[in-house]
Amino acid sequence: MDPLLGWARKNQSAIVKTIREFVECESPTDSPVDVKWFMDLLVEAVSDIATCRLTSECALICKFKLPGRRKKGQLLALGHGDTVWPLGTLETMPFRRAQGRLWGPGVLDMKAGLAFFIFAMRALIELDIPVPHEVVLLVNPDEETGSKTSRPGTEALARKSKAVLVLEPGTGLEGKAKTSRKGIGAWTLKVLGIASHAGVDFASGSSAVVELARQIEIVSGFTDLARGITVNPGVIAGGTRSNVIAAEASAEIDFRVPRLADAKSLDRKFRSLKPFEKRCSLELTGGLNRPPMERTKGVGALFTMAHRLAADLGVELEESSTGGGSDGNFTAALGVPTLDGIGAVGEGAHAAHESILIDRIPDRVALLAKLASSGIPESAISYTT
Ligand SMILES: [Zn+2]
Repeated sequence: MDPLLGWARKNQSAIVKTIREFVECESPTDSPVDVKWFMDLLVEAVSDIATCRLTSECALICKFKLPGRRKKGQLLALGHGDTVWPLGTLETMPFRRAQGRLWGPGVLDMKAGLAFFIFAMRALIELDIPVPHEVVLLVNPDEETGSKTSRPGTEALARKSKAVLVLEPGTGLEGKAKTSRKGIGAWTLKVLGIASHAGVDFASGSSAVVELARQIEIVSGFTDLARGITVNPGVIAGGTRSNVIAAEASAEIDFRVPRLADAKSLDRKFRSLKPFEKRCSLELTGGLNRPPMERTKGVGALFTMAHRLAADLGVELEESSTGGGSDGNFTAALGVPTLDGIGAVGEGAHAAHESILIDRIPDRVALLAKLASSGIPESAISYTT
C-alpha cells in the first residue's frame, strides 16, 4: 500500500478527533472573537510542526517545518476558519458520527479540510518525505461573507507562490476537484420616483415601484443560460403605502459569469440602463466581487498532476466546475495555477445535512500530502503571469 495512505489509515481516529475539536469550536464570520478562538485552536494543533502568525485582519499564516534540504519557491494551501453557522447551532446540530459520516456545522465547509491538511503535513514529517518547496497554509477569517478584509493578504501570498491548493470540499459524493468557478457579483439598483397622493394627485407622481418592475424585466433578460451567465434580482423593496405613489424602490441583484469578458459586457449592459419614465432616475452601485476562476492551462496541468497522484492511491479524481465562489477565484485570477475542491468529501455545505464521508478521509489526506510534496509541473508554472 502507498505509505502515505497507510499512514493516514493508521491515524484516522486522531484525524477524526481533531475534526471534532474544530467543529465544536463554533466560528461564525460575524463573531470575530469566536473566529479568533478557532484560529488559536489551529495554532495549537500545528505548534510543533509549523511557525504561525496571526495578521491584524485575523488571518492565520502557518509555515511548516518539512523534510528536505533544498527548497525552491513556495506552495500555498488556502482555507478559511469561519463558517455560516450562528453561535449555538451545536445545540440543535451537534457533532456526531453516524451512517459512515461525520456530521456538524462547518464539518464539510471546511473544518475537515483544514484538519486533513495539517495531518498531511504530519505524515510528510513522520515518514520523512522530502518536500522541494516551502509550504504555507493561509486560513482566512471572512470567506463566507466575501473575503473583503482578507483578499489583499491572500493575493499577496499567492503572488509569491508557484501554485495554490484550496481546501474547499469537492463536488458531490465523488469529491470532484474544482477547476473552474464562476465569477460572482452584485448590483443594487435603486429607483427614485416622485411621491404623490394616489387618489387626489395621481398624475403628478411618478412611481419608483412601477419603474423598478420594468427594469427588473430588462435585467432578468441579461441571463444567458447557454453561456452560463445568470442574473438574479433576488430582493426587492419599495414604496410606503398603497395610497402613495412610491418615491423609492430598489432591487438587489446577484450575477454569475464564467469568464471575465462576460463580466465586462454585463457591466456595460447594467451601466447603460435608462429609465422608461423620464421623471424617474436610476442609481446603480456594486459590481464584480469575485473574478471567475477560469480553467487556464496552468490549472489544467495542476489537475492532471492531481489526477495521476490520486490514481496511485486507487482513486479516480474527476474535475468539475461550479457557480459558487471561493478564495481560489482571487488566486486563479492572478494567473497562479490553482486547484480547488480537494478538501473533504461529503454533502450539505451550509445546510442541515452537512456531513463528510469517513471512508474518504485517508485518501484525501494522502492526496494532499502527495500534492504538497510533488514538484509543481513546469507546464503549470510556465503559464503563470
Ligand atoms: Zn468554504
